[in-house]
Amino acid sequence: MAEALLEVEHLKKYFPVNAGFLGRTVGQVKAVDDVSFHIRAGETFGLVGESGSGKSTVGRTILRLTDKTAGEVRFRGRDLHRIPEPELRSLRPKLQLIFQDPYSSLNPRVRVGDAIGEALLDHGLAPRGEIRERVLETLAACGLSSYHIDRFPHEFSGGQRQRIGIARAIILNPDLIVADEPVSALDVSIQAQIINLFRRLQETRGLTYLFISHDLSVVEHLCSRIGVLYLGTMMETASRDELFERPLHPYTKALLSAVPVPIPKLKRERIVLKGDIPSPANPPSGCKFHTRCPLAVGRCREEVPELRNVGSEHYVACHLV
Ligand code: SF4
Repeated sequence: MAEALLEVEHLKKYFPVNAGFLGRTVGQVKAVDDVSFHIRAGETFGLVGESGSGKSTVGRTILRLTDKTAGEVRFRGRDLHRIPEPELRSLRPKLQLIFQDPYSSLNPRVRVGDAIGEALLDHGLAPRGEIRERVLETLAACGLSSYHIDRFPHEFSGGQRQRIGIARAIILNPDLIVADEPVSALDVSIQAQIINLFRRLQETRGLTYLFISHDLSVVEHLCSRIGVLYLGTMMETASRDELFERPLHPYTKALLSAVPVPIPKLKRERIVLKGDIPSPANPPSGCKFHTRCPLAVGRCREEVPELRNVGSEHYVACHLV
């Protein structure tokens, strides 16, 4: 087994709920509640779940863009949340985030060439005289041309803006990229192009991805292993093939039943979950999925199922598996 680049162990991120004139803390939103997984160098780990499952908070907490409540995030064996600030700053280029909407992070008055090159300058990774050449190389690697270097963000389509977002990340030569719903806002044909770009960059630059998406069919095309998150808790992790061929958790089965299958004869029976995802401020007791699980039994309401290895690195948190 290749060495893990990133290890996440029992990660928790709770946000306080304040109320009243004095703003006293009256509760907690358990956005991430005991999440564990690892990513090996050069692989793509997909993190999936419905909106509100805590996927983005996992990504941001891993990158230490927000403090953790408990648990560990180790990058190359070191706990990222214990590294002193000055050292963390020099490590930042190695850990990059790509957003769903890169436009929101681009200054509309700054030419994209400058927006891409500024990070190199900020981190002192290249002398000013070399920046333009590095930006041109990176634009080309991301499928954009030299013509684009002096254009402004509003002159680009959604797919091109995502290429700019990717260029801004990869120009720093990162080891790990957290891509948070990077293709969700794009048309299906453009999604395929961006996924191919992610794949090509991984092959040529040895990148490692944490790919966050609500869409299992997107994750299927890019990820070698997948984790399924529900209400801030990991329900199942397995290799992509194992998860798609032998899903064990009732929640994973429900998500998979909604994924379109190209061969009509293989069509899965659709499992429609009742109700909405509960509030993370008041999560159900026992198994968090029990209020929507078609198989729930009495034990599920009381006992939290442990995430157990059922073989071949396939982990499931369900009393009935
Ligand atoms: Fe469903 Fe119970 Fe398994 Fe939770 S533990 S997924 S409620 S059967």
